[in-house]
Amino acid sequence: MTNSSTIMITGANRGIGLAFVEKYLQQGDQVIACCRHPGEAHQLHSLKRIHKDQLQMHTLDVDAPESIEQLANKLSTARIDILINNAGVYGPKGSVLGEISQNDWQKVFTTNAIAPLLVCQAFQQQVAQSQQKIMVCISSKMGSMADNSSGGSYIYRSSKAALNAVVKSLALDLYNHEIKIVALHPGWVQTEMGGANALISTTKSVDSMVRVIENIDENQIGRMLNYDGTVIPW
Ligand code: NDP
Repeated sequence: MTNSSTIMITGANRGIGLAFVEKYLQQGDQVIACCRHPGEAHQLHSLKRIHKDQLQMHTLDVDAPESIEQLANKLSTARIDILINNAGVYGPKGSVLGEISQNDWQKVFTTNAIAPLLVCQAFQQQVAQSQQKIMVCISSKMGSMADNSSGGSYIYRSSKAALNAVVKSLALDLYNHEIKIVALHPGWVQTEMGGANALISTTKSVDSMVRVIENIDENQIGRMLNYDGTVIPW
């Protein structure tokens, strides 16, 4: 187990987050799986029965700064090789022009843009302990201005665009600490958020993203990358 990495994942109880947990466990890595209600995370508990010594489960509501601080204190001596900010929400699906509410917008912003920054901030020391020193934020092509040809989705698009701005600044600020950070678009993925018509499975998305994360090069730092590693324009 000497060559194994330690990966921390937020929103690890279902969807893309759970697929990351499964993938890294299969690779023999150590996984710190974080979710709002570990007691109810039945799929994580099933994985724990198989991978007893590799999987830790922790409570983390990324919307609550005190929850982030509590976990950072609890894991203060941990080494985190790869920190994956995956937790995210879409917000109300029917939110069209004329029906946008400030309250809905603030909630989505909190989870998608503010929380990843607070998590990176709180766990910077643990990532700095690692040789790999990687942070990842799961963003979305829907946050790209260049890619927006259909309008709408004001809340989700703007929250992911804000997340991309956060990633760019973190990349510059953390560069001298040798911490590499990227925003990753997972593809249109079959999850509760992506829906049944989505194009790819969580396995395909995550297998591909894990390869991209393992091979981040200098030119990719601070960019938004597709799940196949190609750069997506802002
Ligand atoms: P799901 O809706 O299937 O899962 C979302 C996950 O985020 C759940 O584990 C959920 O936990 C968690 N979460 C939400 N809010 C919080 C919170 N406050 N604290 C902790 N965890 C929280 O979505 P996906 O798996 O599809 O999405 C994962 C990421 O990928 C998101 O950032 C999303 O924006 C992004 N993405 C997804 C795409 C897709 O096609 N699926 C496309 C582009 C980007 P809980 O069960 O407690 O609600």
